Amino acid sequence: MFVDSHCHLDRLKQSPEELAETLAFARKRGVEHFLCVAVSVKEYDDMLATVKDFPDVSVSCGVHPLHQDDACSYDELLEKAQRDEVVAVGETGLDYFYSPESKSVQLTSFVDHIKVANETGKPLIIHTRDAREDTIALLKEHKAEHTIGVLHCFTESLEMAQAAIEMGFYVSISGIVTFNSADELREVVKAIPLEKLLIETDSPWLAPVPHRGKQNQPGYVVEVAEFIANLKGVSVAELARQTTENFYRLFSLAKHA
Ligand SMILES: [Zn+2]
Ligand SMILES: [Zn+2]
Repeated sequence: MFVDSHCHLDRLKQSPEELAETLAFARKRGVEHFLCVAVSVKEYDDMLATVKDFPDVSVSCGVHPLHQDDACSYDELLEKAQRDEVVAVGETGLDYFYSPESKSVQLTSFVDHIKVANETGKPLIIHTRDAREDTIALLKEHKAEHTIGVLHCFTESLEMAQAAIEMGFYVSISGIVTFNSADELREVVKAIPLEKLLIETDSPWLAPVPHRGKQNQPGYVVEVAEFIANLKGVSVAELARQTTENFYRLFSLAKHA
């Protein structure tokens, strides 16, 4: 059985009935759990309302580095992140590729999230793009090794992956690994130990081959899994078993199916 460790079910632009069908399709393909990741604390309650009737969907709480227009105070973040239903803090992190101009607010927000993770004991979901040194330096400086977390939709260097893994972090791979242009990422994925790997769709974005151009959906995590299994020379069943076990080890508050 598979887990989609990172999706944005509230961004799928679907009616409640369509979302129920999307999840039913994924379950039929063997996906047993979905982690619906927040990008805005202000929209957190709406996101929760979208998914609360599905017992196999967990939620996180946080502000995406590229959503700093929705920035919130440390206290607001802490108040929501410590709620019982929240299994992780994020997504947070640093993205200097798409928004170098918002660097200083991104840094403040990222540090707040690390502190909230340590305060609540809930793991971090980290988005990192073109900000390798600052990401690792801040995680070390603010002692993120206590709560650890995941570098999601990873597209950076093996060196960065190894630095994070040394701190106890996991690395999550999306459908980008199936893209023609992703030769470097494929080399990185081959070198990451199976015990440290998660898989995700990041729906509704980044649909894997052969679904490129369509809206992505959690059921397509199967294509991501098949591709990585092939790349690493293990069976799809083994890849699924290990990444699912890793998921529940990291997100221990997520309800096991
Ligand atoms: Zn992200
Ligand atoms: Zn995301």
